[in-house]
Amino acid sequence: MQTPVLKIIQLSKTFSLGKNDFLALKDISIAFPKTGFVLISGKSGSGKSTLLNLIAGIHKPSEGHVFYRDKAIDAMSERHLCAYRNRELGFVFQQYNLFDKQSVLFNVILPLLIDGKGIAKAYETGEQLLKLYGMEEMAKRDVAKLSGGEKQRVAIIRAIINNPAIVLADEPTGALDRQNAERTMLFLKEISSERLVIVVSHDLELVRSYSTRHIEIKDGKVAHDSGPIC
Ligand code: ADP
Ligand code: MG
Repeated sequence: MQTPVLKIIQLSKTFSLGKNDFLALKDISIAFPKTGFVLISGKSGSGKSTLLNLIAGIHKPSEGHVFYRDKAIDAMSERHLCAYRNRELGFVFQQYNLFDKQSVLFNVILPLLIDGKGIAKAYETGEQLLKLYGMEEMAKRDVAKLSGGEKQRVAIIRAIINNPAIVLADEPTGALDRQNAERTMLFLKEISSERLVIVVSHDLELVRSYSTRHIEIKDGKVAHDSGPIC
């Protein structure tokens, strides 16, 4: 059994809604190994995005902890949390979150620029990574001119440019047709051989065949976990 890269221990999240509190996640514990493709499914409103936001340190837990390599992320300083988000995590969203008026290459290298890398080195790294995945011909094109499937592949390249240990994808195929959704899954599967990839999706039929583990969230709780438990 691999040592977990990410551990969620007795995690709960309460949102305050005026006078009322709403318990979005209830006492969740999950350990994730260093590599693999984990599918998180559940109905709309079950708490999937909240869970990803807690893993990303965007929300603070109401109770419990998220440990990244044995460091509690809720106890990290703002500087460490920024470094964790930028270097150890990659994000992929349903709506790609790319800069439409900029080139593919510029979008891909943004995390490197944010991290303070020199522009020449960043361009070189971006070009190499696009080439590695057979996308070098797209480098100079404006993102606005790409298809949805191409945009999502660019977003995945951007998510891995810092070689993060974890990639979080929230409904990454929600805006794609079947063929492009399958290609996106294949791409995420490919990158999961070297890192942990957590994909939130309600499209079970699509994602199940690619995932190595399936966790179902129901009303803020783990309703099913196919393992492995580490
Ligand atoms: P999912 O991604 O599974 O559709 P979410 O994690 O987005 O669900 O939301 C889970 C529940 O928590 C929902 O009922 C939602 O309305 C509520 N929720 C999420 N974020 C907030 C927030 N910032 N403030 C109040 N309630 C929230
Ligand atoms: Mg969601």
